Amino acid sequence: MRPVYDAVVVGAGPYGLSTAAHLRGRGLRVAVFGRTLEMWRDYMPTGMLLRSHWWATNLSDPRADHGFERFLKASKRNGAYPLPIETFIEYGLWFQRNAVPDVDETYVASIQHRDNRFFRRAGGRARGREWRGRDGDRSPLLRPSTAAVRGALG
Ligand SMILES: Cc1cc2nc3c(=O)[nH]c(=O)nc-3n(C[C@H](O)[C@H](O)[C@H](O)COP(=O)(O)OP(=O)(O)OC[C@H]3O[C@@H](n4cnc5c(N)ncnc54)[C@H](O)[C@@H]3O)c2cc1C
Repeated sequence: MRPVYDAVVVGAGPYGLSTAAHLRGRGLRVAVFGRTLEMWRDYMPTGMLLRSHWWATNLSDPRADHGFERFLKASKRNGAYPLPIETFIEYGLWFQRNAVPDVDETYVASIQHRDNRFFRRAGGRARGREWRGRDGDRSPLLRPSTAAVRGALG
């Protein structure tokens, strides 16, 4: 049986993950596509130091259960300034595992809404390898419950 979702988030960077965490917190079934923290892991300089303090670098989740301080405790680290990018990436991956555990690393070329369904078209390349949707190129993946989305966000 195909999975049924209420909402789709394309992108698993800091904003995408936070958006997905809040939608999940509202009780919606959320599909998330993208490679977790890809820009930070693959397109930023190794050894880069963040300007922001760790205490101002939280990703957002509805009950603030997955803030940076919680990560430091869980990983038995001390907050440092300036914060190395590697620590932020570890925090982002920890956040994803705990707050948005079901990210699908498929790249999508488009999302269409038709006949009360979302259709995803897989596309793109990640790390030199072509990603394909689990159900082939075009899959009737999602049956949106518009009422549920409106109710949760309204
Ligand atoms: C050098 C540099 C330094 C920065 N330093 C800071 C800083 O210190 N503090 C700060 O707050 N911000 C900083 N930023 C900005 C920060 O990177 C962005 O604000 C933030 O990463 C945006 O998050 P996002 O969730 O929009 O997604 P992004 O981080 O932009 O990630 C994009 C996501 O989309 C996914 N994606 C892309 N194409 C597809 C597709 N076709 N299908 C599915 N998924 C797809 C990717 O896999 C990835 O998961 C910096 C940016 C740069 C370039």
